[in-house]
Amino acid sequence: MSPHDECKRLSRRRFLGNAAAAGAGAALTAGTASAQDEKKTRVVYRRLGRTEFMTSHVVAAWDWNEWLYQEAVDAGINYWHKIGGWPGLPDALKNIDRETWYCDVVIDSFEEDGAYAQFEWARKNLGLDYIDSFKLHSIYKTPEDVTAKTGMLKAFDRLKAEGKVKHLSAAQHVEPAIVCAAMLETDLFDHLQPATGGLSPTPEMQDVLKLAKAKDVGIIAKKVMGAVNRAKTDAATRARIEPFLGPDGKWGAAVIKGVLSFEGVTAVTPRTVNFEQFIDNLSTDGIEPTPNEVGAIEVLREYARLNQCSYCGKCTGACPNGVAIPETLRYETYASVYETPKGARKMYAGLPAERRANRCGDCGACEAACPQGMAVREKLRAAHAVLT
Ligand code: SF4
Ligand code: SF4
Repeated sequence: MSPHDECKRLSRRRFLGNAAAAGAGAALTAGTASAQDEKKTRVVYRRLGRTEFMTSHVVAAWDWNEWLYQEAVDAGINYWHKIGGWPGLPDALKNIDRETWYCDVVIDSFEEDGAYAQFEWARKNLGLDYIDSFKLHSIYKTPEDVTAKTGMLKAFDRLKAEGKVKHLSAAQHVEPAIVCAAMLETDLFDHLQPATGGLSPTPEMQDVLKLAKAKDVGIIAKKVMGAVNRAKTDAATRARIEPFLGPDGKWGAAVIKGVLSFEGVTAVTPRTVNFEQFIDNLSTDGIEPTPNEVGAIEVLREYARLNQCSYCGKCTGACPNGVAIPETLRYETYASVYETPKGARKMYAGLPAERRANRCGDCGACEAACPQGMAVREKLRAAHAVLT
């Protein structure tokens, strides 16, 4: 069993048992929190744009460790995304008033009948009268797709007329800025879940966030935690963070506050695989960064800029060999940071052979295009090694 597997299986009981064994006030391992911290965690509720739903600032997902479902409900988290992945409704949600929590289901078909069937399969499987949101899951590859591919929108209209869904939404991590701008122009979407670029959204993404706010479309920021979990393994970054947050500070909560400070961002959906991350991500004092957190955010922003692709897509058209750069770096994050190496390798294997990173010709054009100044070639080589 790998350390990651072990970490993934860390239940609340074991976590608290470890905390007690370590003694009051003693540091456990770097980055963990104490049992006392657990009691102080809380969420803040924010209006999700025109949906009028007051969402917790942290949004949970079906692929969180199942040990965390009840913990999340107890902490006040009230939005669950991608719920079609569950084999049935978790006990944590069965006995609470359906009107108090919100959920979405992934739709990845452009076809009306396919999208309708996908939605209905999930709704019936979970025994729900309705699912709040019909979410297109990074289905568009270009802004032109938004107006050209509309069959699944007819499925949404049918389901809404039947009272089985309330809102239309979309996640987007391919060319997120230009595709989200096109979606906002349609005025069809009630909320969006783009990869916003974490602590360093591009100017184009910042314009999208402002446009969303002007149109009263809520934004749930995705792919925001990769840099945090990667940075925790970097001794130099740990040494720079410690003066701000101490040895057991909440890096995740600080980053979430930093992401929420961008105009237009309503909430974040942090990938969370264990109790340690869960506690790390939840704030104990609201969502305004403290002065020390502002210092930590700056260190992490710098680390992220050089080490974590934000999937902005600016390098995509620059590569003469057509290497799938953001996709490859995203799959590497799934493998190395989100602890799902099998699935990530499968995704990478699904790329056409001529788009994989070993087709890189070492020209450097992607690095010239990258607004983060990342050593893209080096990252691609490392990603290919992890993914094959
Ligand atoms: S260095 Fe490689 S990946 Fe980057 S643009 Fe050139 S060929 Fe494409
Ligand atoms: S490598 Fe750079 S330019 Fe390419 S998607 Fe990532 S952050 Fe954007």
